[in-house]
Amino acid sequence: MMRVFGVFGDPIEHSLSPSMHNAAFRALGIKGCYHAFRVSRPRLADAIYGAAAMGFGGLNLTIPLKEEALRLESLEVDDLAREIGAVNTISFSADKGEGGAEYRIRIQGHNTDGRGALLALQGAGVRVRGSRVLIIGAGGAARALAYSLDREGAEISIANRRVHRAHDLAASVGGTGFSLSDLDRLVSQADVIINATSVGMREGDGRIIDGHLLKSHHAVFDIVYNRETELISDARSAGAVAIDGVMMLVYQGAEAFEIWTGRRAPVDVMERAVRERLEKRRRDEVGG
Ligand code: NAP
Repeated sequence: MMRVFGVFGDPIEHSLSPSMHNAAFRALGIKGCYHAFRVSRPRLADAIYGAAAMGFGGLNLTIPLKEEALRLESLEVDDLAREIGAVNTISFSADKGEGGAEYRIRIQGHNTDGRGALLALQGAGVRVRGSRVLIIGAGGAARALAYSLDREGAEISIANRRVHRAHDLAASVGGTGFSLSDLDRLVSQADVIINATSVGMREGDGRIIDGHLLKSHHAVFDIVYNRETELISDARSAGAVAIDGVMMLVYQGAEAFEIWTGRRAPVDVMERAVRERLEKRRRDEVGG
């Protein structure tokens, strides 16, 4: 029987997850289909319990539902997702009663964003343990990165526009918080530089850091994935390792896929599907 998977969010029209997961199902011959569902915050509980009752294979959650999910009474949230304060992946499993009768559906919450980022760095050959990692940003994605990289033994500094958020996040992972005016010095001291702000999403956003500060010994990771940012092109020009946000998107999806299916995710297929979709979107925009 065909299993249904999906992503819930609002807005949701631009999600790349359906292309990515459907390509993975096709490549492995899994009978699954993945859809995007517009679900508003007040409807989240109904939507998740409904999906559980209908036998969905798994779910992703995106803006604005990741934090909201923690309020759900019957969601069993794993340690990392609880630390991060956000759930982006939900899995369902049936507890069996006597004689194999299904008597309860367990709904479990995970966060694969940080692990996705870690795998993107490792996939590019970047060593995290013991490295000095500068995270710029202190929003939801930065939180996932900070907790996951801390678990991996990175030495973390966090710089953010609203500096109190940098201090709060840094304190919770044993790192140090700074304001954006400290960036020149912080960049020169870092091995790995991560943009976890939304700067770069739109053409004309400008640069979160001056390109001249980047050197060939740096690894630069920009988690923005909808376009090639100035940060990524500056990093390439400097001869630094440059990693774009597509790889985090793909690896967070691959982690979710493996949780749901128990199968190794076809990462190359998923990456190709995302890049093709982005390319098509760019062509459509240029074409008006
Ligand atoms: P968020 O929770 O809204 O956080 C936004 C962050 O960006 C905050 O730190 C904010 O600083 C900072 N920021 C926004 N505008 C800024 C500006 N003009 N100058 C300096 N800092 C600015 O968003 P999020 O969920 O963390 O997402 C952040 C970015 O990551 C988005 O582009 C998103 O698409 C991307 N993302 C990528 C992946 C992936 O898989 N590749 C996954 C998740 C998110 P303040 O705290 O001072 O407001």
